[in-house]
Amino acid sequence: MVNMAPAIKFELDSLKPNHSCPNCGHQGLHIFYEVRNVPVHSCLMMPTKEQALDFPCGDVVLGFCPECGFISNVEFDTKWSAYAPNYESQQSYSPTFNKFAKFLADKWVQKYNLHDKDIVEIGCDKGDFLILLCELGNNRGVGIDPSVVPGRVQSEASDRVKFIQEYYSEKHAEYVGNFICCRHTLEHIQNTKEFVQTVRDSIGERTEIAFCLEIPDNTRVMQQMAFEDIYYEHCSYFSPGTLARLFRSCGFEVTDLYKEYGEQYLIVEAQPIPEATSDKVHPFEESVADVAKDVQYFAENIQSKLQYWKDSLSKMKAENQKVVVWGSGSKCVAFLTTLDTIDKIEYVVDINPNRHGKFIPGVGKEIMSPEFLKEYQPDKIIIMNEIYRDEIGKMLQDMGVVTELITL
Ligand SMILES: [Zn+2]
Repeated sequence: MVNMAPAIKFELDSLKPNHSCPNCGHQGLHIFYEVRNVPVHSCLMMPTKEQALDFPCGDVVLGFCPECGFISNVEFDTKWSAYAPNYESQQSYSPTFNKFAKFLADKWVQKYNLHDKDIVEIGCDKGDFLILLCELGNNRGVGIDPSVVPGRVQSEASDRVKFIQEYYSEKHAEYVGNFICCRHTLEHIQNTKEFVQTVRDSIGERTEIAFCLEIPDNTRVMQQMAFEDIYYEHCSYFSPGTLARLFRSCGFEVTDLYKEYGEQYLIVEAQPIPEATSDKVHPFEESVADVAKDVQYFAENIQSKLQYWKDSLSKMKAENQKVVVWGSGSKCVAFLTTLDTIDKIEYVVDINPNRHGKFIPGVGKEIMSPEFLKEYQPDKIIIMNEIYRDEIGKMLQDMGVVTELITL
């Protein structure tokens, strides 16, 4: 493998020689963070409180690879990778999110001249983004995802899009088209190298086909100690350099690498190359030693941040304040289970109507509609993602709800 920094010395005394890196095969990961007994899924909606509380649990134990900079949950068990139609992670109910999806789709349609083309999306969720790409450029689409619900997204482009309710594998090699994208999927996959290599193998010699992939950026998670972004379904965590090195090792050249969505998302754009490996390093890549520094900072400071939140929530409870969490997805589950403070919060609200009246796995709270706040009039609302602060503030104002907004 080229451009791979040599194994670096990591100051935490935490080397576990038994664990090997799923991203590069290096033997020996440094364990730096543990959260035991958390639900193995955050977005599978439960019909009753009992079923939600009985939900299976697993452990998050993060290991850092000193060879490639990859971070993975070494306790992750692929048997829990069950994504079904009741997996509700659709974010297209938020105008902020839709604006970003439209921006990205416009950008790719223009840049890759996606007009009257065939587009493949691996891990298309309910299909919103793929349908958007097909609407914008009169394209045809194939979306592969076990949680897809054909017909969920209404569009004039629907009849040009085929959905396959399966996990992506080498058997889908026939679906390559003119452009391949994959958003917020790789972080759910344990064997990251095998996945990217499968995509590369499916492309074969058609080196004009671009592959664009988006995932959460873990640099921010480490530097801001964003513990709400560490949960069981996410077994794989990437910084820009680690992602770029993976793509190169699988026969791609990295043509662009950047962050979007308030620096939360990391996007790589890549082109397959005939040679085994590209030697073109993107200026946005950091070294493995840089990642090690971020991991070290996180490991040394995270416990005091967790303690701050535990104390704050206990104080609010003791003062009988009505505290609501806004956002019922993975960040909410991670926030409440990591802190072990489920009893400090009475209600969780969400704007996704498919979630209302359902119960959150492991947390057991019923998900309420924002309308509920008109009657409840909370003292404080804790927002799980700061990027929605203005959108939420406006909704509350329109509903006549006066409250304090807190971000993590
Ligand atoms: Zn590695």
